[in-house]
Amino acid sequence: MLNVLTIPAFQDNYLWLIHDGKHAVVVDPGDATPVLATLAEHRLALAAILLTHHHPDHVGGVPELLRHFNVPVFGPRQEAIPQITHPLGEGDAITLPELALQLSVLDVPGHTLGHIAYIAHEQSWLFCGDTLFAGGCGRLFEGTPQQMVASLSKLAALPDKTQIFCAHEYTLANLRFASEVEPENIAIKARIQHEQAKRDQGHPTVPSTIGLEKSTNPFLRYREPGIADRLAVTGHLSGREPIAVFAALRQWKNSYR
Ligand SMILES: [Zn+2]
Repeated sequence: MLNVLTIPAFQDNYLWLIHDGKHAVVVDPGDATPVLATLAEHRLALAAILLTHHHPDHVGGVPELLRHFNVPVFGPRQEAIPQITHPLGEGDAITLPELALQLSVLDVPGHTLGHIAYIAHEQSWLFCGDTLFAGGCGRLFEGTPQQMVASLSKLAALPDKTQIFCAHEYTLANLRFASEVEPENIAIKARIQHEQAKRDQGHPTVPSTIGLEKSTNPFLRYREPGIADRLAVTGHLSGREPIAVFAALRQWKNSYR
């Protein structure tokens, strides 16, 4: 039986630790210190490191972890991360024997050009780094709106029950924007209350699910006619093509406070 531990790091990052009570795999260890502390607290031995993309808040702890554990490092084939021992890309499947964990890999460029996501089909878990967030999506630092749309479509095609382990606690800010974009969407209003209650108790709002995102996340809902109308009314739209709507949404979110 596998479980996932949430390790908060920095201001608003989550590092994920998949474990079976004995062995563990860490996803995107931006900082080694809280990972080492969690491993010690739960008496877990690190068996592997999984990376989604090259940003320092996702890979910064790798050298320190490798000083404590001689383990394989899986990561994106198309990004220059020197510690990667097992480069991965779309269609690859890996098995981590210590945990009997099977993962498949998707290319999800947009936030960065080589960004990958990991799917544990048996557990219905998705580890998607900074691609899809609860209520939002990653900024387009390297890729185009077209690439991000294609990447998010792959994730949206996963079963509704799939749990989304994204890398940041941005949910309430994302949903405030979602509600600006779709003021009539009651699912967003209900979700804000629900997520606010979790934050008030100091709990994470993630993991989310694909089903919940499809009903509340504007970056999966950009084809809804109401969204294009709203962008037009607020002076944010340059065209009604779906990609133009998505690009205008992302642009508006970049400056939304
Ligand atoms: Zn990033």
